[in-house]
Amino acid sequence: SSIADGLTRGIEGVSDSISETFFEPVIRLGVTGLSRAGKTVFITSLVANLMDRGRMPGLVAAGDGRISAAFLQPQPDDTVPRFDYETHLGALTGAAPHWPESTRAVSQLRLSLRVRPSGLLSGFSGPRTVHLDIVDYPGEWLLDLGLMDKDFATWSAEMLTRLEGRGEGAEYLALAKETDGAAALEEPKAQALARAYTAYLTQARDAGYSDCTPGRFLLPGDLEGSPVLTFAPLPKPETTPRKSLWREMERRFEAYKSRVVTPFFRDHFARIDRQVVLVDVLGAIHRGPAAVEDMRQAMADILGAFRPGRNAFLSRLLRGRRVEKILFAATKADHLHHTQHGALAGIMSALMREARDRADFAGAETRAMAIAALRATTEETRPHEGGSVDCVRGTLLNEDGSRGKQAAFYPGALPDDPARLLTPARQGAEKWLDADYQVMRFAPAPLTLRPGDGPPHIRLDRAAQFLFGDRL
Ligand code: GDP
Repeated sequence: SSIADGLTRGIEGVSDSISETFFEPVIRLGVTGLSRAGKTVFITSLVANLMDRGRMPGLVAAGDGRISAAFLQPQPDDTVPRFDYETHLGALTGAAPHWPESTRAVSQLRLSLRVRPSGLLSGFSGPRTVHLDIVDYPGEWLLDLGLMDKDFATWSAEMLTRLEGRGEGAEYLALAKETDGAAALEEPKAQALARAYTAYLTQARDAGYSDCTPGRFLLPGDLEGSPVLTFAPLPKPETTPRKSLWREMERRFEAYKSRVVTPFFRDHFARIDRQVVLVDVLGAIHRGPAAVEDMRQAMADILGAFRPGRNAFLSRLLRGRRVEKILFAATKADHLHHTQHGALAGIMSALMREARDRADFAGAETRAMAIAALRATTEETRPHEGGSVDCVRGTLLNEDGSRGKQAAFYPGALPDDPARLLTPARQGAEKWLDADYQVMRFAPAPLTLRPGDGPPHIRLDRAAQFLFGDRL
């Protein structure tokens, strides 16, 4: 009998550890946004603040002291690059803190949390392990969804029409018009077209346009120079003989869809449970009305990805799965005094309204917030012309990336009525944030601010609570 006892105990032991690994919940958190929106800083700061506990009171499990440990583990997907947390944190916390390298491709990081249960269960069971799998990917890649239900002829016609309206497109347009798509393919010609088209996309992006597809042309990763990225929109010729430039461009366009876009949506996007979309709203507002309108449009397109019913390709991939929560976060709120944070969140919310209605339709819970993943400023109220203004103070970044002098700024007032920002009639008529905003390139503050300076982030804990607090 003692052998049998031992056996039973042994089996119980085994089944315990099996059930533990099988029932450890995994939350896949997608982090996206257009280039420079703040993805890298967001993830680095989120992980640092969860590991170095005590600064996330707005995350209920953390505030209640129920998170007993937080540690990094090997991620589950062996072929996806790991998010380079240590290097990014090193950049932000070194002797002379500097901003890390931005997101260029998809990457992943697993943070595991040991959490004591709350409420009724707390007396009965020990701590659980919850895995947070963070998936970082460029928002530009989501825009490619719009290519999936188009053929090359339709896409070409749409792009060439768009270029007509953008000064940055003039050079490519001229080249495309003198190109005969019916002529036999010559690789140097195809390369020249792709190069010129990429040059246009780069200029358009630098001018503040958000919608610059195909997404991989700007962020090619290891596909740089490959045939799937060597195509460009062309005017359709009368005839399209075999081996013509048009036929080959058409083939590559289809290859881009099936070999580049489809795997991304299948392997990464389709598996996300919770999503944060970071948006540099202040940057767009500063660039002016056309940039705001373009960003609104691009965000609506991006968020089309969260309304799978409208896209046959995506519905097939998702097979009923969906993102449960989506947070729209206006980043870099530390550029404004907190008295303006409400207005910023209001603008974020208005910008997202159209897109949000669609996502709500798909059953996801959504919220808009103004956050700063890493606070680079402190607040200061200064006398001004008999009254006072609410300023932010920070260390400026020199052109060469070194830390410059300290200065306090008042960037101007945000329009109090978000609708004013989005009225097409006003486009080109106004500039909303003062010239001061232009020079507000702050260096990151050392992660430990002095006591009394306030927390090292703005509402990062609230963002975390919305995104995954309910699962802890
Ligand atoms: P990504 O391209 O989305 O990965 O963007 P990054 O995370 O690299 O952020 C781009 C830039 O935005 C950084 O280099 C910083 O200059 C700025 N930035 C990002 N987050 C913050 C923040 O919380 N506060 C401030 N002041 N600047 C930020």
